[in-house]
Amino acid sequence: MNIVYIALGIVFLLWILGNLHRKIKRRNKLIHIVESNCTGCQRCIKRCPHKVLEALKEEGKVRIVVKNPNKCSACGDCIAVCKFKALELVSKHTP
Ligand code: SF4
Ligand code: SF4
Repeated sequence: MNIVYIALGIVFLLWILGNLHRKIKRRNKLIHIVESNCTGCQRCIKRCPHKVLEALKEEGKVRIVVKNPNKCSACGDCIAVCKFKALELVSKHTP
């Protein structure tokens, strides 16, 4: 019986460490728009829980911009809904 508790404890610990590792990795990331792929469909804007992205209308076209970069948690939710590979996470410290 003790073995079961030890095994469960190890699984739980690994889960915590995995989450922590992902969180630390995300802290240095930021969303970036690949404009050449973007169709302006705005699915990403609807999906973002932190209102990071904004749609600008320019010369009849919709352009997506990163309005609140500091609010981006790098969760990747917007990437998951973009069908055109127009979003990517990049390092905040890219020169
Ligand atoms: S979901 Fe993708 S294609 Fe649509 S507006 Fe956002 S970045 Fe552009
Ligand atoms: S990665 Fe998450 S927080 Fe950042 S813009 Fe996309 S949906 Fe919003």
